[in-house]
Amino acid sequence: MQRVFILFPVALGAYEYLTDLKLQVGQFVLAPFGKKKTVGIVWPEKSDDHFPENKLKKIDSVLPEPALPEQTIRFVNWVAGYTLAPLGAVLKMALNPQMGKISRNPLIFLPPNPGHTQIDFSSVQLKAVKAMHNLSGFKVALLDGVTGSGKTEVYFEEIAHILEQKKQVLVLLPEIILTTAWLKRFEKRFGVAPALWHSSLTPKQRRDTWEAVRNGSAQVLVGARSALFLPFLNLGLIVVDEEHDPSFKQEEGVLYQARDMAIVRAKIADCPIVLASATPSLETYVHAKEGDYLHLQLPERYRGAELPETRIIDMRQKEKGPVHFVSKELQEALAERLPKKEQSLLFLNRRGYAPLMLCRACGHRLQCPHCSAWLVTHKETHQLQCHHCGHTMPIPTECPQCHEKGTLVACGPGVERVAEEIRTLFPNARIAQITSDTLTHPQDFAQLIQQIESGELDILIGTQILAKGHHFKNLTLVGVIDADMGLAGGDLRAGERTFQLLQQVMGRAGREEKKGMALLQSYNPENLIIHALSQNDRTCFLTEEKMTRKLLHMPPFGRLASIIVSGRNQVITWQTIQQLAIKAPVKPDIEILGPVVAPIAKLRGKFRYRLLVKAPKEAKIQNYLHLWLDSIKIPASVDMRIDVDPYSFF
Ligand SMILES: [Zn+2]
Ligand SMILES: [Zn+2]
Repeated sequence: MQRVFILFPVALGAYEYLTDLKLQVGQFVLAPFGKKKTVGIVWPEKSDDHFPENKLKKIDSVLPEPALPEQTIRFVNWVAGYTLAPLGAVLKMALNPQMGKISRNPLIFLPPNPGHTQIDFSSVQLKAVKAMHNLSGFKVALLDGVTGSGKTEVYFEEIAHILEQKKQVLVLLPEIILTTAWLKRFEKRFGVAPALWHSSLTPKQRRDTWEAVRNGSAQVLVGARSALFLPFLNLGLIVVDEEHDPSFKQEEGVLYQARDMAIVRAKIADCPIVLASATPSLETYVHAKEGDYLHLQLPERYRGAELPETRIIDMRQKEKGPVHFVSKELQEALAERLPKKEQSLLFLNRRGYAPLMLCRACGHRLQCPHCSAWLVTHKETHQLQCHHCGHTMPIPTECPQCHEKGTLVACGPGVERVAEEIRTLFPNARIAQITSDTLTHPQDFAQLIQQIESGELDILIGTQILAKGHHFKNLTLVGVIDADMGLAGGDLRAGERTFQLLQQVMGRAGREEKKGMALLQSYNPENLIIHALSQNDRTCFLTEEKMTRKLLHMPPFGRLASIIVSGRNQVITWQTIQQLAIKAPVKPDIEILGPVVAPIAKLRGKFRYRLLVKAPKEAKIQNYLHLWLDSIKIPASVDMRIDVDPYSFF
């Protein structure tokens, strides 16, 4: 009898078993687990701490599945070690949930044809293509180009180069629903569609795609962040497009930053990784500046298209009278475009009609019963909705506090309200509202793109769903309704996110011959970020942001981990986090900030408190957290969530 470790796809570590079977690491086995038999993976031994033999159970059988690749096992171990997530929870992301079921008619993934591109590259583009071809082994390259500079075509050439070497390619995109345009370009370049990995695949599609990645027949796989955990047989390149995008950070279950983990995955595969962006994250920018990453710049728009002319509209100096959310200047710019059949985009990153409803008689504000958040008015569905937990209720006819009738008023604009105003101002314009409320399927998005391209729409009003990667040749005006919005709240990356998002939105204007214009409405035009945006001055913004973070020892010049403790009983939850704070080991270089009430004090009925651990860049923050938290028992009614490298501070 021999001892082996088996890891199951559940939020626990590996367990020891006995067997007389000849087993290899990575093999799929069936073993008793709790009351039933479960599929698990033979895992590399990790401790000398053995259980007495008479306590161990025996492995049942070996499954006829090929073993999980060794690189996938190393990657799962690494991610669990870094994020402090249970090993089995990370394994779960790497496994096909339909293990052991065989497809009768598996999907066929045709090989993309690396062939030759139809595009005449500019000399800067050619230089970037060559530099990428020369990469060998693990290396990070930042492909840094303004919107419309042809980054995609450039990294397509590197994909072709890797395909010629008969290796696999993984492309990570932030939100798969937005990729219709990307997929069209891919098909045009390579003759076939790539394999896809996202949350709306059917179980059969998942099973077949997983298998095709493992046996190498899927040569190019495009997916959202979870595609990183697929069992690639022979990975030769990773591309992370829009590397700065906040959606690469997974905020549920295993908390990880997919861009950072993609770099680790490339290192394990000893292959290059290309990070592409028009507005790189500060982390990536600093690495590129310091020479850790190869910095490939595409400073011009393809075929000489110019960047939009940008102006700030100072909303403080507006005349009295009926308030419009769309200023006079912006109205005039819209009116000019209608007869010319040019399109305009109004951007406001807020769904619904109004962010707050209050009673004019008593001042009562309508709040979610489960969260510390205002209820957002959605006029089209006649509902109030909590954007944190999804709670909905009909719009009341009287104030729930003072019971006056007709005193409730909606405050501030959302996309629906801006659309309402535009319909009144331009009754003949063809208008579309574009938010995640109106677009739920990739097909809806494809249809919308089609309508915009064929000129069936004049004015688009939408949230950030519109900010990414689309190229409309007749769109010449972008109006930002509230440029200051993202700056409130003051979390670490608020400025960076606002800059990136607005620069991307503004980049939608004037992608071809016609010159574009971007107008930013602001109550705070002196703000450095608003100013840098109006001057199209990324360097100014990045230099300033870098200096501030350096001064404060904040990422990427220091490291953070956040600990959020939450529970339904406020007193027990608060006592738990206080006890936790008291037991924090004292280390000269590590600072514990808090405990404080979390910015969202109550979420889905649970009270929330936060501690922040701040450490120098070189510190092993994971070791410190283990030393602190491993011995602590917290009450069963309280949840603790550890987020290494937090991105949102809610
Ligand atoms: Zn009232
Ligand atoms: Zn809520």
